[in-house]
Amino acid sequence: MKAINPATGQLIQQYDQHSDAEAAAIVEAVDLAFTSWRRTDFSKRRLMMKQAASILRDRAEKYGRLITLEMGKILVEGIAEVNKCALVCDYYADNAEAHLADQDIPTEAHRSFISFQPIGTILAVMPWNFPFWQVFRFAAPTLMAGNTGLLKHASNVPGCALAIEEVFRDAGFPEDTFRTLLIGGSRVKPVINHPAVKAVTLTGSTPAGRSVAAAAGRAIKKTVLELGGSDPYVILEDADLPAAAASCASSRLLNSGQSCIAAKRFVVIESVASEFTRLLVEEMSSRVLGDPLDPLSHMGPMARIDLRDELHQQVLDSVAAGAKIVLGGEVPTMTGAYYPATVLSEVRPGMPAYDDELFGPVASVIAAKDEADAIDIANDTVFGLGAAVYTRDIERGQRIAAEELQAGCCFVNDFVKSDPRLPFGGIKESGYGRELHALGIREFVNQKTVMVSGA
Ligand code: NAP
Repeated sequence: MKAINPATGQLIQQYDQHSDAEAAAIVEAVDLAFTSWRRTDFSKRRLMMKQAASILRDRAEKYGRLITLEMGKILVEGIAEVNKCALVCDYYADNAEAHLADQDIPTEAHRSFISFQPIGTILAVMPWNFPFWQVFRFAAPTLMAGNTGLLKHASNVPGCALAIEEVFRDAGFPEDTFRTLLIGGSRVKPVINHPAVKAVTLTGSTPAGRSVAAAAGRAIKKTVLELGGSDPYVILEDADLPAAAASCASSRLLNSGQSCIAAKRFVVIESVASEFTRLLVEEMSSRVLGDPLDPLSHMGPMARIDLRDELHQQVLDSVAAGAKIVLGGEVPTMTGAYYPATVLSEVRPGMPAYDDELFGPVASVIAAKDEADAIDIANDTVFGLGAAVYTRDIERGQRIAAEELQAGCCFVNDFVKSDPRLPFGGIKESGYGRELHALGIREFVNQKTVMVSGA
C-alpha cells in the first residue's frame, strides 16, 4: 500500500497490507473488546471521547499536514478538517447518552419503552477525500453507543488510517475498541462475512456502495451508504448574484472540488444566466492553484493522477457533445495531479457534465426557463445528496428546499455543509441512512422494544 504525494508524485511511505490471517485476528480482537466496552458507562466513554477531541486539537497541525501530503488538500483545509473532527467527538461525548436514553411509550403494561443497545463491531469502508472527517463522523457515535469500530480506509491514505487509530489509543480507549485494517477494496467481502462484524457503513462511490451493500445484504447485515452526488444549485432571477456566485465558487472549489456535497450543476434562470456565469468565472479564476503547503494557494492538486485524468476526459466528452469551456479545461504542465478551476456552459442531458458526478473543480452551468423548469432540471439526476437554492425571497427558497428539491440536505442562500447537530445523508443513488445528529447514532443500535407487565 503506497502513500504518494499528489503534489509531487513522490512516494511518502510504503505500508505492508495485513494478511488474511492478520485481518481476521484484528476483527476477532475488536469483537472481543466489545464484550467489556458495551458495559462501560457513558461517563467513562465521555471522558475518553473528550480526550480524543483534545488530542485532535493539539495535533491539528501535524495531522493536517499528513492529510495534505497524502491527498493534496491545502494545509489550512487539512487543519480545519482535524478541528472539525474534535467538534464531532465533543458533540457525541455531550449528547450520546441523551440520544440513547430510554423512550417510554404509554400502553396498558406496567412500563413499555424503547431501549437503544449496542450491537457489536461496525465495519467502516471510507474514502480519501476527507480522510479524517469521514472516519470520525462514523467513529465518534459508534464508540459512544458502546459499539466497537473497524476501519478499512482508502488505499491512498494509509498514514491517516493509522493516525486515527493512534488518536483513540492515546485517548485511553481500551485496546482494540477501534482498529484499522490495511487491506484493499477487493478484500472487504470476507470481512463483511465474518460473523463478528454486525453492520457496515460505506462512504464512497456508488459502484463501491452497490458492491458492499450487496455483500452485506447477502449476509443480512445492515448498511448505511453515503455515496456520490451531482448537487444542483438553483439560482433564481431574484438572487443576490454576486453573493450567490461567491458561495457557489467556494462550494465547487473546496477540497479541489472533491467533495460529495460540492455544488456541481448550476441551474440558472435564463434571464440572469450570462451575468451569473460572468460572476462565477470571476470568482473561480481568482482562486490560486498551487503547492498545497504554500499559504498563498487556494487550491491544491487532485488526490491522484488517474482521478485527474478521468475528470479531464469527462470535460472533453462533454465538450465533444456540445458544451462550451468558459474557463480552464486544460491540464496544466506542472508536475502533480493539478487541474484548473473550470466552467462549462451550454451543458445538456447526454453529457457527463450533466448526467454524471464530476469529482473535481469543474462547474456545469445549465440554463432554465423558469422556476418550474429549474426544479425539473435540478431533480433530473440519479443522485440525491445535497442541493441549494439562491433567492432574496426566503419563503420561496424555503418552499423549494423543503418540498421540491429531491435531496437529503437542502440549503437556502448558502452551500451545503455537514454539521454534527444536523442529520446528513442522501436519497436515490446517493445512498440511504443518516450520519450525525441523534439519527446517526441510532443507525447501528438495537432499537429494542421492552414491555414490562406486573407480576
Ligand atoms: P471509492 O473508490 O468508492 O472508494 C471508497 C472506499 O471504498 C475505499 O476505501 C475503497 O477502497 C473502497 N472500495 C472501492 N471499491 C470497493 C469494492 N468493490 N468493495 C469494497 N470496498 C471498495 O470512492 P473514492 O474515490 O475514495 O471517493 C469518492 C467518492 O466518494 C465520490 O463519489 C464521492 O461523492 C463519494 N463521497 C461521498 C460522501 C458522502 O457522505 N455521501 C462523502 C465523501 C465522498 P480502496 O481505496 O482500497 O479501493
